[in-house]
Amino acid sequence: CFITFEGIDGSGKSTQARRLADALRAEGYDVVLTREPGGSPGAEEIRSLVLEGDPDRWSAETEILLFTAARRDHLERTILPALAQGKVVICDRFADSTRMYQGLSRGDLRGIVDQLHALMIGREPDLTLLIDMDPALGLTRAKARQTSEERFEDFGQALQEQMRRGFLNLANEFSDRFRVIDGGRSPEEVALDVTRIALEHLA
Ligand code: C5P
Repeated sequence: CFITFEGIDGSGKSTQARRLADALRAEGYDVVLTREPGGSPGAEEIRSLVLEGDPDRWSAETEILLFTAARRDHLERTILPALAQGKVVICDRFADSTRMYQGLSRGDLRGIVDQLHALMIGREPDLTLLIDMDPALGLTRAKARQTSEERFEDFGQALQEQMRRGFLNLANEFSDRFRVIDGGRSPEEVALDVTRIALEHLA
């Protein structure tokens, strides 16, 4: 079973992905916890190329190619082998993030993102947990956590709002696999919802 977490920066996805992995392991599931961009040695190298250094190094189109290349490697080397072994794969961000960030934030490039996805990725998650949150809260949390040299895109309030709405629209578009979770509560409360929904799905 392939489970992904999505949401704006600072929404708490990574914390929740980790907690869910722990909860499912405690229930006896064999879990692989991974993330994007990255999740395989090659894809982690591409992650550095994209997220470190000059944000204007790549055009929007080249960035889509790089994210898709990273995803293809991650899928081939990490995700599909684990699924074939009957493991639960939990991934912090996946193609929906590219539909939003590369598809929306630098003009309307969703068509290119979708075409490349159809050509090179194809696979969608079985369950996507959208941690929905007020961007003001997300921004505060993301800034508080920012420690690495990785580029942090301070999109500003307006663009964060656009991303939030975009993710909610995506949840409607792919309503068969998306579940929207209120991320404005305590991590413990959010985790209870996340675990319940995942276990229902796995049952
Ligand atoms: O989820 P995480 O914090 O690791 O993401 C790192 C950065 O990469 C974030 O600033 C996020 O906005 C950006 N990102 C992106 N396009 C993606 C995935 C992440 O611009 N497809």
